[in-house]
Amino acid sequence: MSSQVIFVSSEASPLVKTGGLADVCGSLPGEIQTLGLGTRIVLPWYKTIEGTILGTTMVPLSGREIKVTYGETSIGEVPVLLVGHPPMFHRDGLYHENGKPYPDNDRRFILFSKAAVLGAEQYFEPDGYHAHDWFTGIIPMLLKYHEDFPNRPCVYTIHNLRHQGEFPVESFRYSGISWDHFRFDTAEHYGQLNLMKAGISTADHVTTVSPTYAEEIQTKEYGGGLEEVLRYHSDKLSGILNGIDTGAWNPSHDSYLEEEEQFDIDNLSGKYKTRSNLLREAGLPEMDRPLIGLVGRLVPQKGIDLVLDHWPALKRLEAQWIVLGTGDTEFENGLRKIENRCPEMFSAKIMFSERWAHRIEAGADLFCMPSRFEPCGLNQIYSMAYGTVPIVHRTGGLADTVIDPSESEDKATGFTFKKFSGDAFVNTVKRALNVYHNQPNHWSKIQENGMKKDFSWQASAKKYLRCYIQQIEGLEPEVSLV
Ligand code: ADP
Repeated sequence: MSSQVIFVSSEASPLVKTGGLADVCGSLPGEIQTLGLGTRIVLPWYKTIEGTILGTTMVPLSGREIKVTYGETSIGEVPVLLVGHPPMFHRDGLYHENGKPYPDNDRRFILFSKAAVLGAEQYFEPDGYHAHDWFTGIIPMLLKYHEDFPNRPCVYTIHNLRHQGEFPVESFRYSGISWDHFRFDTAEHYGQLNLMKAGISTADHVTTVSPTYAEEIQTKEYGGGLEEVLRYHSDKLSGILNGIDTGAWNPSHDSYLEEEEQFDIDNLSGKYKTRSNLLREAGLPEMDRPLIGLVGRLVPQKGIDLVLDHWPALKRLEAQWIVLGTGDTEFENGLRKIENRCPEMFSAKIMFSERWAHRIEAGADLFCMPSRFEPCGLNQIYSMAYGTVPIVHRTGGLADTVIDPSESEDKATGFTFKKFSGDAFVNTVKRALNVYHNQPNHWSKIQENGMKKDFSWQASAKKYLRCYIQQIEGLEPEVSLV
């Protein structure tokens, strides 16, 4: 296994996570390795990560030399290189604090990107790179245009086009790339440096995390201003659906469930035990009503406003709700307010907790994900794996993973609404509850269909592997695609 693809990411589970990016970068490298191609991961050395020091180096950053300490750890079988510079990475947040982005995010992530490649070249044997989101968008450009960096192929993945890493033009100087290469067809975008655009424009291949999102981002509605760039590069753009880590997210051996709470498709009694315990832990009474879960970042993307604005209508539907998330203060307060008003029906857990996330997925009857847009979305997939029927807006990866009874009565795995509106959302919750209450056989079938689906990484990991093989000349023939 001498060939190596180097994943460079700002987060990877379980070492550091704020969202789906971490789930992907924590699990895909291991899957690729199982298929026979070596992988390595490079991460910033945040203060919560423990590692062993390997050595130090000086990295040039706009006329200064920055001391970087490299460390090592691992995720499963995959070695992880840590890029340390405490003034930049030993902070309370990853990207922001108290709702405000760090003002030096340009320096932080350009330094990280440079040091990541220099470190990978020193400690590993890279054949190519795989960079993720705007944080590492400068990497393919460094590899193509910076004389101190090797000219190696790079795949770039867009996990969420909403955040593009836009900075003043002057920030480009941190890259050390000649200004001749700072152009409208590389990293310049309407008078700004746009690191996402740098990644898209200069990578050898661009992927995003679902086929529908790959189409959507080429339109004005979803393209975030980069739709023309994406259309221009559509020949090298593909959508590969995220898989899930079936070791961590599996109701039959989920480590956040007690033994008697674990369950599988043949016996759901553990699920109902989890529901009882979950209600008790959340301070909700057992009321013989369906339990609806929601887990996610509390930001406009996730459509939380549909729940808040339409609570009077949702309240009449007589379910119980547990919502877990952190994010915009206005959403956090709105959820707390509902909890205060309806303490028997609604529990708002304003925190980040893996334990609660797993237990809600396991114990809820339905899972609500009314995202405005959703590149892939993992929670709806976790829900299906746990027999928790998702209610989703039919967009991006949600459209690619959830089948509504109106599309196929037999194959349905959840409920979807097409138009992003309060009425459509409330009606769909109503429709789902109607099946729950009045068509128990159909309900069981929907649960079963979801639990039977194969959402493991296997199929998608092969697609990434094909993509590396196309980009990296002479990649080891031992790599298996069978
Ligand atoms: P995104 O990447 O946009 O945040 P995804 O659905 O792709 O959305 O992935 C979100 C991941 O983050 C899931 O694994 C979800 O369980 C987790 N997550 C989000 N908010 C929380 C929270 N408050 N506590 C625990 N896990 C959370």
